[in-house]
Amino acid sequence: MNYALVTGGSRGIGKAICLAVAKEGYSVLINYRSNKESALEVKKQIEAEGGNAELLPFDVSDAKSVDEAITHWQENHLEDYIAVLVNNAGIREDTIMVFMQDEQWNNVLQTNLNSFFYVTRRVLKGMITKRYGRIVNIASLSGIKGLAGQTNYSAAKAGLIGATKALAQEIGSRKITVNAVAPGFIATDMTQDLPEAELKKMIPVGRFGKAEEVADLVSFLISDKASYITGEVISINGGLYT
Ligand code: NAP
Repeated sequence: MNYALVTGGSRGIGKAICLAVAKEGYSVLINYRSNKESALEVKKQIEAEGGNAELLPFDVSDAKSVDEAITHWQENHLEDYIAVLVNNAGIREDTIMVFMQDEQWNNVLQTNLNSFFYVTRRVLKGMITKRYGRIVNIASLSGIKGLAGQTNYSAAKAGLIGATKALAQEIGSRKITVNAVAPGFIATDMTQDLPEAELKKMIPVGRFGKAEEVADLVSFLISDKASYITGEVISINGGLYT
C-alpha cells in the first residue's frame, strides 16, 4: 500500500493536507507531537470519507523520536512504503533579535529545519528503491523575504528552501520530486494572535488564506500532473509582494 506521511497533521494546514492526500487515494500517516485528540478527529474524518489513516506520533525536532517511530512503522509494514512526505510541522517563537534567547533560536531551527533532515532521510531509501516519490516542504513567505521579529523562523524556512533545491537535484533521476510551498498568512492556530484586520489591508486579495487552499496546491504537487516540477518554491499568499 502507498502511504503519505504528513508531519503536524493534527491541526491547521497539516490537517487540511491529510484530508486532501487521503482523497488522492493514499493511506495517511498523521503525525503530531502531543495533540492526540485532534489527530484522532482527523483520522475519523478521513475514514468517514472512505479513506485510510493511522496515527504516527513523534517529535520532529528529536532525531531519536523520529528514528524510533519510523523504523517501528517500517518493520511492521514490510510490503508498504511512504510514497509521499509532507514536511509541514512547524512553530513560531517571534521576538526581535536583541531579545532573542538561545532557546528561541534553537527551538525554531530544530522544529522547522532540522526536522526536515531527521524525517526525510528515513523515508528516502524507500522512495529511491521504488523509484518514485513526492516530497513537499512547507516553507513560508518569511523564508523568502524575511520578516522583522522572525530572524529564527526566516532562517529556518530559508534553510528549508535551500535544502529543497539541493535534494531535488540529488534525486531527480529517481523520479522523486522535491518542492517547497511558501504560504503567506493562513488562518490557523499559528496566526490566531496576529492582528488580522490590520494585516489583511496589505494583502491584495484582502483576506488571510485558508488551510484548504494550501492543501489544494500540495495535492497538485504530489499528483502525476506535477511530474516535471521539482526544486521549486511556490508561493501562495494572496498577492503579497515577495
Ligand atoms: P498550527 O496550526 O500551529 O499546527 C502546527 C502543527 O504542527 C500541529 O499539528 C502540531 O502538532 C505540529 N507540531 C508542532 N511542533 C511539532 C513537533 N515538534 N513534532 C511534531 N509535530 C509538531 O500551524 P499551521 O499554521 O498549520 O502551520 C503549518 C506549517 O505551515 C508550519 O510549518 C508553518 O511554519 C507553516 N506556515 C504557516 C503559515 C500560517 O500563516 N499559518 C504561514 C506560512 C507557513 P500538535 O497538534 O500535537 O501540537
